[in-house]
Amino acid sequence: MQSITLLGATGSIGESTLDVIARHPDKYSVFALTGHQQLGKLALQCQRFQPQFAVVNDAKSAAQLQTLLVEKNTKTEVLYGVEALCQVASAVQVDAVMAAIVGAAGLVPTMAAIKTGKKILLANKEALVMAGGLFMDAVKASGSDLLPIDSEHNAIFQCLPANYELAETSGISKLLLSASGGPFRGWSAEQMATVTPDQACAHPNWSMGRKISVDSASLMNKGLELIEACWLFAVTPSQIDVVVHPQSVIHSLVQYVDGSVLAQLGNPDMRTPIAYGLAWPDRIDAGVPELDLFDIARLDFERADLINFPCLRLASDAAAAGGDAPAILNAANEIAVQAFLDGRIGFTQIAEVVDNTLSGLEVGEPDSLDVVQESDKKARSHSAAYITGIES
Ligand code: NAD
Ligand code: MG
Repeated sequence: MQSITLLGATGSIGESTLDVIARHPDKYSVFALTGHQQLGKLALQCQRFQPQFAVVNDAKSAAQLQTLLVEKNTKTEVLYGVEALCQVASAVQVDAVMAAIVGAAGLVPTMAAIKTGKKILLANKEALVMAGGLFMDAVKASGSDLLPIDSEHNAIFQCLPANYELAETSGISKLLLSASGGPFRGWSAEQMATVTPDQACAHPNWSMGRKISVDSASLMNKGLELIEACWLFAVTPSQIDVVVHPQSVIHSLVQYVDGSVLAQLGNPDMRTPIAYGLAWPDRIDAGVPELDLFDIARLDFERADLINFPCLRLASDAAAAGGDAPAILNAANEIAVQAFLDGRIGFTQIAEVVDNTLSGLEVGEPDSLDVVQESDKKARSHSAAYITGIES
């Protein structure tokens, strides 16, 4: 029986994780669930999965959740704050931690889980984007198993040899990172200038949280994933090709020097990579319908359009620049995406905000999470000021 802490239980990945866990009550139990705003949903999850702890952000939410739990006759203990997130991520009773908090808020608890050697199911890509060097060093030091949940990275992980360390010594020539192209594939920047948040969030294949949906539409998500892949698989941006594949059936591929290309295919459903992460190296039922290749009939591939989707190029440049450039990129993007979702800036201005922030700040070499968070803060205030400037 594996005991699981689920950071970000109320989100899209969190819900899918609970769906898989619920199918295997003999294999997994829930130690802690955490959530930020959807307290009603968190209370229902506690009622159903009976975790020992639930963690929210502040005292007021904790009191509200406590009331809901009493009404449901549920004995889960309610904690709040970052310390509590770290506590449930690193508790001795815990075997595995699903890191599914969105954004920079996931860093500290994920690091706490790594430092205590837990098996990590990493959905929070921002951890590697912002502080990949620090996270990978911590993984090495603690001997944690780091299992990528992002579908593309999970696919690559499945196509790598079991003892993989380096592309060069494993006969790998390229990693091919799949991208669906998002809802605006084939559109010009001019056409995208006036799109609404709802249009940007209407992903053709995947159902996800709003932030990552906008990132998928701008291809920033692929840029963040490129950075994530560099850290996970110890490769440089030049060893990765982005392949636009609109059907989202091939989740990514690994090209070997002998001409072989291995791919992982499946219906676009995050329960597959989640189930693989939970059961690795075994396989369990994920509740995902079988892939019907005859139904799909054809698979298409295109090159990514770096002209109309500048976010991918900005991310690739930030990966090559190294240091805290990816953290700056990520912070500027978070601020810009929120401003877009709030109707303050246009969709194509997201790239403009990120570009302006990257060129306005000096790149440093962060040696701790505190320093990364400083860069993050600086980048956020730079982009917020830039947005206020372009609004008026
Ligand atoms: P979501 O917005 O649906 O859920 C986010 C979760 O984080 C929620 O439980 C929320 O309560 C919690 N949260 C948000 N802000 C918080 C804060 N300040 N403090 C504590 N908790 C907070 O997001 P999602 O789509 O589930 O994505 C989660 C992570 O997984 C992201 O990093 C995303 O990039 C990654 N990811 C998601 C998908 C997907 O299909 N949804 C695929 C690949 C990777
Ligand atoms: Mg992905």
